[in-house]
Amino acid sequence: MPDLPGLPVPELLALDRRHVWHPYGPMPGRVDPLVVESASGVRLRTSSGDLVDGMSSWWSAIHGYNHPVLNEAAREQLGRMSHVMFGGLTHEPAVRLAKLLVDMSPKGLEHVFLADSGSVSVEVAVKMCLQYWRSLGRGGKQRLLTWRGGYHGDTWQPMSVCDPEGGMHELWSGMLPRQVFVDAPPAGYEEAYAEQLRAAIERHADELAAVIVEPVVQGAGGMRFHSPAYLRVLREACDAHDVLLVFDEIATGFGRTGALFAAEHAAVTPDVMCVGKALTGGYLTMAATLCTPRVAEGISRGEVPVLAHGPTFMGNPLAASVACASIGLLLGQDWLAEVKRIEAGLREGLAPARELPGVQDVRVLGAIGVVQLDHEVDMRAATEAAVREGVWLRPFRDLVYTMPPYVTGDEDVARIARAVCAAAKEG
Ligand SMILES: *Cc1c(COP(=O)(O)O)cnc(C)c1O
Repeated sequence: MPDLPGLPVPELLALDRRHVWHPYGPMPGRVDPLVVESASGVRLRTSSGDLVDGMSSWWSAIHGYNHPVLNEAAREQLGRMSHVMFGGLTHEPAVRLAKLLVDMSPKGLEHVFLADSGSVSVEVAVKMCLQYWRSLGRGGKQRLLTWRGGYHGDTWQPMSVCDPEGGMHELWSGMLPRQVFVDAPPAGYEEAYAEQLRAAIERHADELAAVIVEPVVQGAGGMRFHSPAYLRVLREACDAHDVLLVFDEIATGFGRTGALFAAEHAAVTPDVMCVGKALTGGYLTMAATLCTPRVAEGISRGEVPVLAHGPTFMGNPLAASVACASIGLLLGQDWLAEVKRIEAGLREGLAPARELPGVQDVRVLGAIGVVQLDHEVDMRAATEAAVREGVWLRPFRDLVYTMPPYVTGDEDVARIARAVCAAAKEG
């Protein structure tokens, strides 16, 4: 293993194991992580050599790493200020970002709450919905309805609407707010399932503040895709029964599914929408909760007419500047052509996985490719198989999947697909 500048790799790993907690991991860690020295374009320079990134650092690095335009936006903003508090102060990066988000998101979403992570943006969304009904004198509407197989983050309210079984948060199911769950959405449109959604919303209407779902693609809850028609069913049933509709577009936003936001596949505007992950092109942590004037005005008419939420790093100028630059890069190119190009490459490259023993399903949508196994993946074997192909993947549960940066060239897409197949085979 080559030493990296600074600490020798073995020493760094020993300290990491001793002191550093990693996502969803034990302490001390049982498997050594790869050490990343730097990243550029779609390549991570690691202690196991250069790897093509098949994960976009969990959906976020859509333009790849070390991008000159994003670097310049960060540098330019650093020269002004990296942060100021947002209470009583405002600044151009935050205002510009809010305007960009309003202009590009489904029509009707006009107000923007800037949060510091996806989970916090979901907390804010839930708070908005509960407070809306409370302000209208209907404080009994406190529960959320969602479908199974979802993922909305790791803080308390988001955990309560994550898939309650087999997911990452099963341990807490007895202590979380008890939400209303319906079956996970089938891939294709089924009228019987639509009927189930309508019936559940009607039955629980008096206690429901909102329905919250990930539109079209359920990410970390199982990488499942469903018919956009269900979003229209939800919109109509929510309108008919006085329930708000929240779309969590933290994974699906900014073009990943082949629409700027997945809600567009159904031409539906939710009352509240969360974005995050790719918002800053993977540079800095920032998320946002958008809402309609109806929600904002409802809250403002209440006994407590303010939204009592204000993270210390709310509206962080550095993150907001990079987010503006990232959105500019996205909209300034034919992003849809790039996503479609990757979609075609993944369809072709992942087709052979269908023939592998132990593979249950292969599915591709936009720049997302998924191979589902009929068993729990052997994470170490699968990761090593991908690394041998020169690719970074992070399988979980029974899934080997990829969502490459949009700048990934055809040869690298083919290489990623080969790595997914190898990981599915070895894992
Ligand atoms: C990642 C994710 C979140 C949580 O975002 P964090 O920034 O990790 O807190 C919430 N919802 C969805 C759909 C996500 O993919």
